[in-house]
Amino acid sequence: MTDTIKNYINGKSQDSLSDRTMESINPANTRDIVGIVPKSNQKDIDIAVNAARDAFHKWRLVPAPKRGEIIFKAAELLTKRKQELGELVTREMGKVLPEGLGDVQEAIDMAYYMAGEGRRLSGETVPSELPNKDCKSVRVPIGVFALITPWNFPTAIPAWKIFPALISGNTVVFKPSSYTPVCATRLVEILVEAGIPEGVLNLIHGTGDEVGEPLATHPLIDGVSFTGSTNVGEKLARICSVNDKEISCEMGGKNVIIVMDDAKLDLAVEGAIWGGFGTTGQRCTAASRVVVHEKVHDKFLDMFKNGASRLRLGNGLKKTTDVGPVINESQMKKILDYIEIGKKEGAKLEIGGEAFKQGECANGYFIRPTIFADVHQKMCIAQEEIFGPVVCVIKAKDLTDAINLANDVKYGLSSSIYSQDVNNTAIAERDLDTGLIYINASTIGAEIQLPFGGTKKSGLGHREAGGRGGALDMFTKWKVIYRDYSGKLQKAQIDK
Ligand code: NAD
Repeated sequence: MTDTIKNYINGKSQDSLSDRTMESINPANTRDIVGIVPKSNQKDIDIAVNAARDAFHKWRLVPAPKRGEIIFKAAELLTKRKQELGELVTREMGKVLPEGLGDVQEAIDMAYYMAGEGRRLSGETVPSELPNKDCKSVRVPIGVFALITPWNFPTAIPAWKIFPALISGNTVVFKPSSYTPVCATRLVEILVEAGIPEGVLNLIHGTGDEVGEPLATHPLIDGVSFTGSTNVGEKLARICSVNDKEISCEMGGKNVIIVMDDAKLDLAVEGAIWGGFGTTGQRCTAASRVVVHEKVHDKFLDMFKNGASRLRLGNGLKKTTDVGPVINESQMKKILDYIEIGKKEGAKLEIGGEAFKQGECANGYFIRPTIFADVHQKMCIAQEEIFGPVVCVIKAKDLTDAINLANDVKYGLSSSIYSQDVNNTAIAERDLDTGLIYINASTIGAEIQLPFGGTKKSGLGHREAGGRGGALDMFTKWKVIYRDYSGKLQKAQIDK
């Protein structure tokens, strides 16, 4: 069934004033049109941003615990509808159903976590150096946020932004990926059902050029939270910095698993398969490189190839499927082009390397899990984010060499080391230059109660998710208040 969806602006579902639409297509079967979606324009953006601007004045004054109650209700509605929403994620984005359900679970986790923040949002009270004076810092909302999200976590990533933005007292104009608009619409509908007042959360569908950029650069937008490719994130950051807008960007990755000679190889192989081919390699934290100690390199490669070649491609809704499709035709072409580049660069194609069009996969965007060996650090396939089921295996002499290879890319999102030697893992923990580090686990699997994000070209500005240094820093600014009840002029640093 094809869903006809709308924008949601100022409390009303409505078509775009452009009268244009676009389609959201199931990447496992391009004959299945998941949604007909508005293709919005500047007028829609203006109306949505103004609605959010007006609503901000009231929403910021709603006590945070009350805002939390609405988000708590959204968590309960998401939980009740988890199965249906997880199936939609799989149908619209392609990941296998357990991962589709995981995507929704992450949104549920974030909703409960941020609902609780409604009763914390804590600042500090500290003593004053002067008598009869007190001082405190409080978090206050920033204003109207543009939230721009990618397609690979169509429920989780919007939730990572919407819930902390709202609990902090901001209002929102949300522009999801044009490849997963139906998932985004369901999430917004749930928040509306939970009681979000009109104007507080607005949803606009459309392309990056026509909606994303004009929205992010709109004069009435105070802050931008973006997740997507590094090119777009850096471009937005440049524009926002000259226009005095807050911006945080979560961007690409070229993540790495290090396998030492003392690693449990079975465990490392499982981690490399999960990290490399889970979500069809389309995670920002995907393990697209495996750096293996030369003593175990050949054995690891054999085991890795054996495991990966058993993975079954297909529609993610089927229990027998291990790996779903990639998101669209242009991404498929990009990945296949990188595979050709890898071959030309002299890397050894061990398995995969081609599109898969057999049986039920005939009408989808499927690529066989691909492993390259004999990969050198300077090759393009070892340096650039491919964002598909392609893993490069690189040989290292020792731990120092492995860490140098791991760090020698422009990205710094996630890394992992498999080793039974506590000293190796401690050195890796100290020296790997990534925002996330896993010990004896793959590069994927972040939990929402900790900050999420990367170094170098993987992240700009504040981190997402929970904990100190997480999303509340992205969505609030500090206000410091000094109250003098001495009844006389007191001078800090001067009065003794
Ligand atoms: P993308 O950059 O093409 O698009 C992301 C979003 O930005 C979409 O909503 C898109 O419509 C919009 N957009 C595109 N051009 C724009 C512009 N000029 N101005 C404003 N908005 C614009 O990325 P994608 O293909 O949707 O997602 C894949 C990328 O996202 C990968 O690079 C991946 O690593 C990254 N990603 C990063 C994280 C993270 O947390 N670090 C998480 C998921 C995905």
